[in-house]
Amino acid sequence: MLTNTLKYLRSAFKHFSHETITKDYFVTNQMNNDSSLNVNSIKKRIKDHLHYTVAKTPRTATDRDWFNAIAYVIRDLLADRWMTTMGEYYRRDAKRVYYLSLEFLMGRTLIKSMLNLGIYDKFCQALSELGLSLETITELEPDPALGNGGLGRLAACFLDSMATIGLPGYGYSIRYEYGMFYQRFYDGFQVEHPDNWLRYGNPWEYPRAEVLYPVHFGGHVVEYKDEQLGRKGYHWKETEDVMAMAYDTPIPGYGTANVNNLRLWAAKSSRDFDLGYFNEGNYIKAVEDKNNSENLSKVLYPDDTTPMGRELRLRQEYFFVSASLQDIIRRYLVNHDDIRGLPAKVAIQLNDTHPTLAIPEMMRLLLDRYHLPWSEVWDITIQIFAYTNHTLLPEALETWPIRLFERLLPRHLQIIYQINHEFLKEVSYRYPGDMDALKRMSIIGEEGEKHIRMGHLAFIGSHKVNGVAKLHTHLMKTTIFADFDRFFPNRIVNKTNGITPRRWLNEANPELAQLINQHIGHEWVTDLNQLKQLIPLAMDTHFRTEFQAIKQRNKQKLAEFIQKQMGLTINPHSLFDVQVKRIHEYKRQLLKLLHVIAHYNHIRVDPHFDRVPRTVIFAGKSAPGYFIAKLIIKLINSVADVVNHDPIVNEQLKVVFIPNYDVSNAVRIIPAADLSEQISTAGTEASGTGNMKLALNGALTIGTLDGANVEIREEVGEDNIFIFGMTSEQVAERRQRGYNPWDYYHGNQELKQVLDMISSGYFCRDKSTIFQPVFDTLTHNGDRYMLLADYADYINCQNHVDEVYRNQDDWNRRAILNVANMGKFSSDRTISEYAHEIWEIKPVIPD
Ligand SMILES: *Cc1c(COP(=O)(O)O)cnc(C)c1O
Repeated sequence: MLTNTLKYLRSAFKHFSHETITKDYFVTNQMNNDSSLNVNSIKKRIKDHLHYTVAKTPRTATDRDWFNAIAYVIRDLLADRWMTTMGEYYRRDAKRVYYLSLEFLMGRTLIKSMLNLGIYDKFCQALSELGLSLETITELEPDPALGNGGLGRLAACFLDSMATIGLPGYGYSIRYEYGMFYQRFYDGFQVEHPDNWLRYGNPWEYPRAEVLYPVHFGGHVVEYKDEQLGRKGYHWKETEDVMAMAYDTPIPGYGTANVNNLRLWAAKSSRDFDLGYFNEGNYIKAVEDKNNSENLSKVLYPDDTTPMGRELRLRQEYFFVSASLQDIIRRYLVNHDDIRGLPAKVAIQLNDTHPTLAIPEMMRLLLDRYHLPWSEVWDITIQIFAYTNHTLLPEALETWPIRLFERLLPRHLQIIYQINHEFLKEVSYRYPGDMDALKRMSIIGEEGEKHIRMGHLAFIGSHKVNGVAKLHTHLMKTTIFADFDRFFPNRIVNKTNGITPRRWLNEANPELAQLINQHIGHEWVTDLNQLKQLIPLAMDTHFRTEFQAIKQRNKQKLAEFIQKQMGLTINPHSLFDVQVKRIHEYKRQLLKLLHVIAHYNHIRVDPHFDRVPRTVIFAGKSAPGYFIAKLIIKLINSVADVVNHDPIVNEQLKVVFIPNYDVSNAVRIIPAADLSEQISTAGTEASGTGNMKLALNGALTIGTLDGANVEIREEVGEDNIFIFGMTSEQVAERRQRGYNPWDYYHGNQELKQVLDMISSGYFCRDKSTIFQPVFDTLTHNGDRYMLLADYADYINCQNHVDEVYRNQDDWNRRAILNVANMGKFSSDRTISEYAHEIWEIKPVIPD
């Protein structure tokens, strides 16, 4: 295994011709330096932790106690490697990258850690000898859902890749006390429950009570004359302070001794550190204030498509950015005394605009604390920062009212004004007289209430700005950032997203992983392009049979889960048609549902026709305040209710909405999918990563030419993917020309019937007008995402899917070719590109 990793590192970093990756590294750092670790010693360690850490006997221990004891044993193993890795980064004075993200959708840690440390089999043996069920115990671990969806999950995949490659990469975020809400259905409606994920404690984290930074809010700015420097200086005074306290989570790489760090900040009252405050007399008020400031890290905002115009959200953003930068600079100063050398040792990636305040905050620290002159401060800042854009939807671009900044962050507002002033000077110099360009490019927007455009600030303050798929990057250059691309010609680059093969194949689909290992070895786990060796096996009937048997068992397991959780019986031999992702109009769950209803109507008209039986599986959460998305959830559940209880339909169609889509549910559903629905309106999905996970597990994609679907088609070949609908150009052109959904409504009898059933209350007889707003969005309100325009082609394409599925052997061939050609979509590839082309960092290879 060591030499495989070695080979991978070489291939990932072959661009560094001077790089010397020696075998010695693995000799000194290899995994098995816990020579004492065998099944017996594991059992002893577990029993010791049960006794001394959990304080229970095997007789009184609950399964959760056992979970904790096991987690502590693994944590000990991580701690050793972690401290060594961190020490090595210091010793080598490595350049580090800091991935700043308001979301990390990590999923469970227990199995992942065992696999990454290469101790899974030994633990299985030990647990079975202790009479414990790993399956039962795994289910007791809460799924830390500190993210909404794709953006947060990407951050988690990136951490896994950085640790595996050996890059000195740190995650920074907020330790939300309540993560993403838990979704339940009552009468088919989404109901949000608080996710109290820390209720039973968190064995994976290390609280760092001593790593504590003050974060300032409010107050005012006082100008003074700095005699020494002979220029003006600024004091930010009379602020309200909140303390940020660090909690560290070790992030192990796969098959390596590297363990990186994810540092999450929790808000603590500054009053705790000021006894005088309590002694002043108003004890109750003091406790109240304390709670108020600690509210800052209470809850994750559960919306990933509309920015939260709420003061608390801005406070969260600044809180996390300020603490992280103080920590980054402190770490740099351990080994350096000239702050001007920062860009040689620090790269900071902004995951969307949420952490953009890091740019003016870095400026403020360098100006006001280190007293560097403006132009130097600006150069340093730009060299350090890079920004990833995740969306083109105009309503999703973050802006903040100037008014709020004046009150909350007055010094930052001054700095942003100055950045804007210097920038617009350049613009007017380059485009003399072009007032329109100034208006369009300004950081300050004047439409409506005066506001700060965070995307512009992030763009101007970064040396590289990236999109997350080829098409998305192209659209960035030609639409939202066209002016900026002209002004800064080489700043926009593409970094197509990826997923970690450790979580999404090796762990999620152990049987398929095993089958692959038997044929091509296991190097693919750290070098996903190795899967290309499966291409000839797609023609091997024996391999196809085994591949299909595994898919069948995965489907059986999911069917059992659905039976147990939802009391619903599904046919494990039907085609599993899967759409799992956040519920949003642009992702077009409704288009899928129109197909379901049309299909249902066909069955009712001709129940004895020979059809491919289908099980349509939905999962996904809606933002709690997103009215139409929540109504779509209710509609899916209502359609499911009608279809699943109609005796005429029998085994031909079932509709299932699995509640609470999170990483654990993704891991259950994805390996069982036959068909992957990636049907967003072309030009709206930046990349998608669900599409990659499903294809890697042998689902065929039905999709539009949107996001990374375009590149998936390039990789798997157009015969092995079902593409339908308008291209992004056609969508833009249609919009230009004027789009009228009624043309489709009146022009397609089948479609009209489906839409009329929705509006007439067919699916909800006791509240017959409830779905009228769904009908209206698709008709009276203009059908913004053009479902009706793509409908007919989608139906044709689905019919083609059925035809192909009838020939199981041929379907399996195509599915295998999907798996075989997914190498490009490893997040190891993505991260290597960031490391090389944006961060200019290299793996740390101890000598
Ligand atoms: C991968 C993933 C997503 C992103 O899915 P898309 O289809 O790319 O939107 C969202 N949520 C979870 C839990 C995921 O694992």
